[in-house]
Amino acid sequence: MPFSAETKEELLRELPARSCCQAAELAALAAVAGRRQVTPEGVQFTFELPQASTARRLFHLWKQVDGVRPWLQVRFLRRPGHRTYAVRVGPVPPGHPVARRLEALAAEGLPWRRCCRRAYVRAAFLARGSLVQPAKTYHIEWDLGKPVACEALIDCLRSLGLAPRQVSRRGGAVYLKGAEQVLTVLQLMGARRALLQLENVRIVKEMRSDANRLVNAETANLDKTVRAALDQIEAIRRLEARLGGLEHLPPGLAEVARARLRQPYSSLAELGATLRPPMTKSGVRHRLNRLMALAAGRSAREPGSADPPAQARAVDEAAASAADAPAGSPEEC
Ligand SMILES: [Zn+2]
Repeated sequence: MPFSAETKEELLRELPARSCCQAAELAALAAVAGRRQVTPEGVQFTFELPQASTARRLFHLWKQVDGVRPWLQVRFLRRPGHRTYAVRVGPVPPGHPVARRLEALAAEGLPWRRCCRRAYVRAAFLARGSLVQPAKTYHIEWDLGKPVACEALIDCLRSLGLAPRQVSRRGGAVYLKGAEQVLTVLQLMGARRALLQLENVRIVKEMRSDANRLVNAETANLDKTVRAALDQIEAIRRLEARLGGLEHLPPGLAEVARARLRQPYSSLAELGATLRPPMTKSGVRHRLNRLMALAAGRSAREPGSADPPAQARAVDEAAASAADAPAGSPEEC
């Protein structure tokens, strides 16, 4: 069942306990779905509602509030499969208690009690409301089709601490967006099951987006590691070709260079663990950086062809540097 229909079903299970809230629901239904007519026989109200269940609610409200048994008519619309449920009260002669109620409904302002304003929002939702499936987005809407009814509902929602918005399509609609707003209005309307369901969906969505963020971060790190390893291998191959073999490198650098060629996809820590003696991650990084710098320095001089004295100097410097640093320390290379 769609989330909207499920929420309405939940709300329709109980009539409001207080008579003030029952009258507020009736006022809301009159404002959003009612039509007042004055006939030669007296005054009457016709409520047009899209669901049989909401029509039944109205029927019970009338009975509860004024002891009136309204005349119920099912009217079919032209669209196949769609029908409108019309509930008519009256006509009753002027002075009749029901006529006084009908007049009151026509002139009713917003209920001032908080419990009644919640009832007003709930009844407006039952008559003209819809909720988007929470898996898609958080959105509740009242498709009222009457600017006056939109203004009244907006005032009511604002007085309950919400921030409704209005659109002018099809005569006017009011909506709330965002998980916080939709959760709050569900709580105010008393839709506890729908509230829990939406909370669950929100938690699952948040967990899924956290997991995606982690996977993306992991993938980005992996890409970075692989790209760096490929650059290192390319630099080592270049050095090997130019020096005529890795044995011309200082032993510390040659050892790391060979380890990298043997294990192109290993992390720095894994490379360090294969060396004898084992070396820390920062020590391996330092040596690989020296190899890269050495390769880059030579390639910069290469266009003018090989420069044997310069080659010899660079290798000597690297050798001296590797010899100076204590074995196993991160600074050595
Ligand atoms: Zn009340």
